This record gives sequence, structure tokens and C-alpha cells, in this order.
Amino acid sequence: MGKLDGRVVIVTGAARGQGEQEARLFAAEGAEVVVADVLDEQGAALAKELGALYVHLDVGREADWRSAVAVAEEAYGRVDGLVNNAGILRFNALVDTPLDEFLQVVQVNQVGCFLGVKTVAPLIAAAGGGTIVNTASYTGVTGMAAVGAYAATKHAVLGLTRVAALELASQGIRVNAVCPGAVDTAMSNPSLLDPEADVEETSRALDSLYRKLVPLGRIGRPEEVARLALFLTSEDSSYITGQPFVIDGGWLAGVSLI
Ligand code: NAD
Repeated sequence: MGKLDGRVVIVTGAARGQGEQEARLFAAEGAEVVVADVLDEQGAALAKELGALYVHLDVGREADWRSAVAVAEEAYGRVDGLVNNAGILRFNALVDTPLDEFLQVVQVNQVGCFLGVKTVAPLIAAAGGGTIVNTASYTGVTGMAAVGAYAATKHAVLGLTRVAALELASQGIRVNAVCPGAVDTAMSNPSLLDPEADVEETSRALDSLYRKLVPLGRIGRPEEVARLALFLTSEDSSYITGQPFVIDGGWLAGVSLI
């Protein structure tokens, strides 16, 4: 028995990184997974490998959401889970951030999450209830210099999560958020996108950087975030809604002098 047997779950930004690991784990736990992304080739290849469905979905575009859920409903007859995982990061000091760049980050991270809840919640309600997991960040619960647009959207995702939890509970829909610290994906480790790079070496270099910053002494792995998303999507979290879950190796636990 899988923890998600009989469930139909859309995962956005699932072509790589944390979304890919969520798609892999959810499929292994028995879910029909809808792999959604703008990286069509990678997303389609993953879906094929998993026996899942790929849909092109730019999360900032409402029309894309409408067609993605139509395709999912046609394939599986229902949708009862959503992981809003797609996100982008831009580095800039606030005073140097062009408005276009700020709005681009808002469009994907914040509007994307809003449109996901708005479009998919009615289907989940029609299926008799289910779960939504929004991907915020540790920068959704604290500040971080040089990522102002990103941190603002991730704070907003927590606000959306709490309001959605309040509004959707009566329809049997639980809504929670994951707040990862640094995780070894292309977002924190762009060398993963460079075919020439020595990936093991760059991961080791990141671990040694985070050894100094993070109590657990290393960068997080996307598989670890996927296990948290599974917990929040499965019955294991049946009495939990409206909450942010920090998964950061203890980075936010406090200041340490040792
Ligand atoms: P990643 O860059 O490897 O993956 C992001 C995925 O989102 C990619 O597949 C990308 O194509 C997709 N995407 C981007 N824009 C999209 C759009 N408009 N529509 C649909 N898909 C889109 O990085 P990741 O670490 O796997 O990121 C996953 C989530 O985790 C993001 O929301 C990110 O903000 C969050 N996060 C990451 C870290 C980290 O250190 N990696 C830390 C905290 C939170």
C-alpha cells in the first residue's frame, strides 16, 4: 500500500529539482502524478519514465492553468492534490532591483501560487477533499539580503497558505507550506545545469560552505523536501492545516557561538 494510492496530484515546476523528487516519490507512493513545467522536454521525459502525465504550465498564466486542469481531469477524472512548487530566484539589492525583475518574481512565485489555489481548489473540493502544499522558503519567515523580491513573494506565499487553509477547510482541503533552507538544486547550485561541471565536487563545496552556517552541517537534498511534501499530502498530516514547515538543517534555530 502506498501513502498516496488513488490520489491524483499536480506538481508544478516538476521537471527538475525538488519538484522532480516530489513527482518521483509521489508516483512511488501510488499517486497519479501530473508533471507540470515550462521545461517541456525534461518534464515530458520524466513523466514518461514515471508513467505520469506531462502538461505545459506556466504558473503565472491563468489560461495555462485552465488547460492543464482540463487535461488532468480528462486523463484521470479528478484532481485531489496540488504541490505549488515552481519558483524563480533573482539576486539584487532592493534599491538596484528593476521593477520588471521584481514583478517577474511576483508573477511566478506569488501569482503562480494564487492561480494554483484558485484553479485547482474547486476540483479538489469536487473530489471530496484533498491537499495543497505551497512552496515558500526560509526566506518566507526571515529576511535575507540580496533576495528582496524573492523573500517578499515567499512571505506572501505563507499569507496565501493561511487564508486558503481557513477558507477551504470546510471543503475538506488542507493547505500547508514547506519552507526549505538551502537545497542542492539548480537554484542554489547552478553548476547542476552545466554539463561540463563536476557535480560531486560542487556539492561537496556547498556542503563545506554550509558546514559553517547550518547546525546539521550540510546543504539539504531535494529528496528530503519531497518527503516533507509527502507527509503534508498524505493522511499522516490529517489534522494539520494552515502551517509553515521549516526544513533547513537548523539554520533558523538561533544564533550559535560554538
Ligand atoms: P529549480 O530551479 O531546480 O526548479 C524550479 C522549477 O520550476 C524548474 O523546473 C523550472 O522550470 C520551474 N519553473 C520556473 N518558472 C516556472 C513557471 N513560470 N511555470 C512553471 N514552472 C516554472 O529549483 P528548486 O530548488 O527545485 O525550486 C523549487 C521550489 O523550491 C521553488 O519554489 C523555490 O523557490 C523553492 N526553494 C528552493 C530553495 C533552494 O535552495 N533550492 C530554497 C527554498 C525554497
